[in-house]
Amino acid sequence: MTSIEHTQVVVIGGGQAGLAAGYHLRRLGLDFVILDAQAEPGGAWQHAWNSLRLFSPAAYSSLPGRPMPVQTGETYPDASHVVGYLTEFERRYELPLRRPVRVSGVHRDGRLLHVETDSGSWQARAVISATGTWWRPFLPAVPGRSDFRGRQLHTVEYRSPHDFAGQKVIVVGGGNSGAQIAADLAYESELTWVTQRPPRFLADDIDGRVLFDSATARRRALDEGSADTGGVASLGDIVAIPPVHDARDAGLLKASPMFVRLERDGVVWADGTMMSADAVIWCTGFRPALSHLAPLCLRGPRGHIPTAGTRAVAEPRLHLLGYGDWTGPASATLIGVGRPARDAAREIAELLRAEG
Ligand code: FAD
Repeated sequence: MTSIEHTQVVVIGGGQAGLAAGYHLRRLGLDFVILDAQAEPGGAWQHAWNSLRLFSPAAYSSLPGRPMPVQTGETYPDASHVVGYLTEFERRYELPLRRPVRVSGVHRDGRLLHVETDSGSWQARAVISATGTWWRPFLPAVPGRSDFRGRQLHTVEYRSPHDFAGQKVIVVGGGNSGAQIAADLAYESELTWVTQRPPRFLADDIDGRVLFDSATARRRALDEGSADTGGVASLGDIVAIPPVHDARDAGLLKASPMFVRLERDGVVWADGTMMSADAVIWCTGFRPALSHLAPLCLRGPRGHIPTAGTRAVAEPRLHLLGYGDWTGPASATLIGVGRPARDAAREIAELLRAEG
């Protein structure tokens, strides 16, 4: 017999966004549970490549309530430091995590939302979805991709340059992941870095702090009906954290334009010449992991669910947290998720009060 548990709010996902939601729900005295598919704390940070560095210092990478401590000897903390911080965060605030519990579907059930999982189901008056993007890697449709006999992997599968020592490796992608992984591989492999347009490095003194301020200013301008400031995109794409900065200044991060297709043994450039390769690493981004919300039929253009702030426009009992700027400025960052999490928790508290 499958059990049904009852609570006021179900939070789906126990990464940083789910924990920030939990912090604010607890402060408001609501009854809630956080369901997380991972066996351990830390969300996507548990799966990052070994050398990944945050693009902001610890003090600018904090969730509400508890500042991230400095990592000894590092200005830009690594992913294991973030996992330690999130682990401590959920313990400190005694957040009600259930692991591993994977939500398969959220359904309307009269005045309640019914949350179906691989270990029982929950009924709640509101749901916060905070499932991130790491679980839906995006691969572009490039001709010949399935013909290539070498190794192909996405950012999510990359771990260490030692796995590619001495090999001809093509890294595709001009964002922070592409630049960091290219810098990682530049010394031990024969690297070719490919970007759709010339890579845009931010000035060396600009890091995630400025990106956060810029995203916030853009949101404010749009909310006030002022001209679009361009936000983060107007500044550039790549934060020159020390390993990226060093590889670039050593002349090892020269980008080539995108190849036109893959073949069995390599890639073909626009001028028709072929280059052999052992591996292609696709640092080509992510899409929001929203399949568990499919039963609610809320999807709008570009695969997003239309939101007003964090609230789903067509389902006021559902909030979306993290994912990208469409759920709040910089809400897919450690420092940025606090405010939308607070707003979501407050709106839910008001909704429950109004319903009585
Ligand atoms: P996640 O960390 O992905 O957590 C979501 C959780 O939900 C996971 O535990 C997952 O298992 C669970 N889940 C998913 N589906 C289900 C389901 N159906 N049922 C139950 N549980 C489910 N941000 C910064 O602030 N600074 C940085 O320097 C930075 N660097 C980044 C570098 C990379 C390469 C990437 C990809 C992102 C980076 N980010 C950075 C952005 C952001 O902080 C991370 O993506 C972060 O992991 C997002 O947190 P989240 O809680 O939204 O999602």
